[in-house]
Amino acid sequence: MLELGVGCFVTNTKNKILTNSALTYANTELTRRAGGLKSLLNLQFFYGQPEASVTSLSLIILPVAPDAWHNLLTLPANNLDWLPQNRVLPPGATLPFLDPIPVLFWGAGYEDGHKPFAERREDGTVVFYADIIAATLFLLTRWEETVVPDRDEHGRFPATASVAYKQGFLDRPIVDEYALILRAWLKVLCPNWRPEPHKFEVKLSHDVDHVQRFPNWRKGARTLLGDVLKRHDPGLAKDSAINTLAQIANPRWDHYYRGIYKLAELSKAYGFSNDAFYFMAAEPGPFDPGYDIQAPFVRECIETLLQEGFEIGLHPSYKTFEEPSRLLEEKARLDAVLGYSEYGGRQHYLRVQVPDTWRHWEQAGFAYDSTMTYADCAGFRCGTCHPFRPFDLHQNRELDLWEIPLIVMEGTLFHYRHLTPQQVEQRILELAQRCSQVEGTFTLLWHNTSLYQNWTVWRTTYERVLKQLMELQNGQVPEFVQNVATV
Ligand SMILES: [Zn+2]
Repeated sequence: MLELGVGCFVTNTKNKILTNSALTYANTELTRRAGGLKSLLNLQFFYGQPEASVTSLSLIILPVAPDAWHNLLTLPANNLDWLPQNRVLPPGATLPFLDPIPVLFWGAGYEDGHKPFAERREDGTVVFYADIIAATLFLLTRWEETVVPDRDEHGRFPATASVAYKQGFLDRPIVDEYALILRAWLKVLCPNWRPEPHKFEVKLSHDVDHVQRFPNWRKGARTLLGDVLKRHDPGLAKDSAINTLAQIANPRWDHYYRGIYKLAELSKAYGFSNDAFYFMAAEPGPFDPGYDIQAPFVRECIETLLQEGFEIGLHPSYKTFEEPSRLLEEKARLDAVLGYSEYGGRQHYLRVQVPDTWRHWEQAGFAYDSTMTYADCAGFRCGTCHPFRPFDLHQNRELDLWEIPLIVMEGTLFHYRHLTPQQVEQRILELAQRCSQVEGTFTLLWHNTSLYQNWTVWRTTYERVLKQLMELQNGQVPEFVQNVATV
């Protein structure tokens, strides 16, 4: 029996992944989302059948079978049990949404689903037949990415290889939903308990891959000629002419550079003030523009953003996800510009290898990472939209780093999913609403270069999204919800 904290106990299992440290970690992450257990001093929390008699103030979670994690990887698509909420919640309780709840893991011996998700027994104890601790650990650690070899052309684990995609719950912050279910059952056990709710937040972020459209004026001139002679497009030609001229006369005229200021201006206009701008500090490479972070016009931009109250972080280059020395070099460059070293960031191309990249970020002294979504599909890669401490499965420990999971990158919807502007808006807001329902953080990535390409339509889309995200954050009903309600 392992003591987890005041009033909480857990039994160990023989599962090699579900170590005592891992179970403690998952329990902490889950109960923090549920509202904290500080005031539940007399509650006994068991993972496994208790060996001795228990008090009625006990919550028991029945552990999954040891081979269930591997079995979930090979489960045919759309084969999970999805339960209606009346088989999940205590009588009379509700969730802020109506969807059925997927069961990732049944407790060992209950796989046939003849029991509900959880129930109160005659002795007064509450028993979970669904193993929400194992599910939390499965999703937050991204264990499947350490055992499934699938990678795309950039070495990234694709959404399509994930259990969440195959079983149809990538759109759902399952860990956070399980926490709300846990909260409902804890209220049954302890009616006077007052859970500490979390506040829904929107976090806007911007990866500054480019500060100039062309690497040199010659490339600009060639593009300009193509716009005139091949594409016969006066609009494109005008843009290319301005960006070419910026190369020669003043980089501050460049559209990509101006896009950074435009993002800041739009955020302020819609009431946002905590945007993060992640700058690169890399050498040039096939996938890295390699602009000079020390260049006066780049430093000027960073200083202006800081003065305006925005946050600056690092966007480490293409190879850094597996080269910690390169990561350190780039971080040292940004440290020198900023004069401080505690900040967050996001990997270029969303390239990560868990848990190694997380560990490298911890060792480099980052405050947080915000990479964890998929390039090919938006949604909840880690099954959560709450910031959390990554767990290093190889070293069997919680890392001294925060992960603020990214939920949507605009490029995923434009380039991978080929959605129309209206569909992009709808998709972003649906996912944001999911985050608000579970009191989480909705993190959106919008590049400065995306304001420039097809400027009018995407800028309009972005502005409509910002307006409705602010309404959602303020607890108002945004336009898209009203539209859905009237259909
Ligand atoms: Zn990037």
